Amino acid sequence: MTDPRYPFLDLAAVNASMLSDLKAAACRVIDSGRYVGGAECSAFEEELAAFAGTPYAVGTGNGLDALRLILKAYIALGRLAPGDEVIVPGNTYIATVLAVTDAGLTPVFVDADERTLNIDTSLIEAAISPATKAILTVHLYGRPAFDAEMAVVARRHDLLIIEDNAQAIGADAAGLKTGALGDAAAFSFYPTKNIGAIGDAGAVTTADKSLADTVRALANYGSDRRYHNIYEGYNSRLDPIQAACLRLKLSTADKETMRRRELARIYDSEIVNPLVIKPLRGNPDGSVWHQYVVRVGDREKFRTYLAANGVATDVHYAVPPHRQPCYSRYAHLSLPVTDMLAAQVVSLPISACTSPDDAREIANIINSYPND
Ligand SMILES: *Cc1c(COP(=O)(O)O)cnc(C)c1O
Repeated sequence: MTDPRYPFLDLAAVNASMLSDLKAAACRVIDSGRYVGGAECSAFEEELAAFAGTPYAVGTGNGLDALRLILKAYIALGRLAPGDEVIVPGNTYIATVLAVTDAGLTPVFVDADERTLNIDTSLIEAAISPATKAILTVHLYGRPAFDAEMAVVARRHDLLIIEDNAQAIGADAAGLKTGALGDAAAFSFYPTKNIGAIGDAGAVTTADKSLADTVRALANYGSDRRYHNIYEGYNSRLDPIQAACLRLKLSTADKETMRRRELARIYDSEIVNPLVIKPLRGNPDGSVWHQYVVRVGDREKFRTYLAANGVATDVHYAVPPHRQPCYSRYAHLSLPVTDMLAAQVVSLPISACTSPDDAREIANIINSYPND
């Protein structure tokens, strides 16, 4: 197999532009002799909190753990209890739902909005029962899934708003950054995310000091101080080599967002094939375009055509959580928009390996996709 002319994502190439700085950051940690916690971790946490506009940030081992720790911390604080219902979008990556069921909470799936591909805010209130205690909103593909209507519904029913911000670092809505919109937010720095580590990493942001303290304790064996365990905790701490690399990456976040927005603008204006539905642009466009997702009727044919023309694509996601084998208990649910999206979505290249000229050429190739 030869490499495609337009790769979907090449992580080594993405990191090549800052390779010597990344190596120096990793070496700084190796030289320091401090391999868990320490100055790099606390510096990154401060920088992330400042970036997101939240008083507190706590590093975690990965994004799924960030979500799990938020939910378990709310349980430890008495704000949630096992069996409580949590509103989740049908159209999401499975990690969102895994965190809910792992905490002994019950996910209540709400279908997607065909225009935003995010949770359909207008369907949330009908899904609320007396057992509902939180909305876990997911800024999928980098697009903020938060609006005044969601905030009003949450307030009316005394619900927590928890953000799954794995895909949307730097996005903005309602004059705030994602991560600062709700009561708490989970970040992922999985290598393919907009700000990616050199391995697994995650974080929690919040304005609630007791939540931040509880997340930090739970992530460190449940201890509030050395050899003093107040919770039955876990081990999910941010690795200092990752923290040192992420400090570098975070300093480029605004540039990364601008680059992705430029590519999205090119796709928006240059793709004109009526067989291809483009994402609806928000107004204002708060998205950080983690993915540029188009929809087509015959996905296999479209992807095969693009591959034959040197354009690598991906699918996020072909099987939604409620259709996964592990969640057969939710397979009976009717989520028609989520199911339709799962059959139609295709993600186009939008990484740092894609230049504006590449995006124009990819748009030309898409415009030549034949209707036969
Ligand atoms: C990546 C991702 C996660 C999980 O993050 P990890 O760091 O891979 O554990 C959670 N939710 C969404 C929406 C994601 O895209």
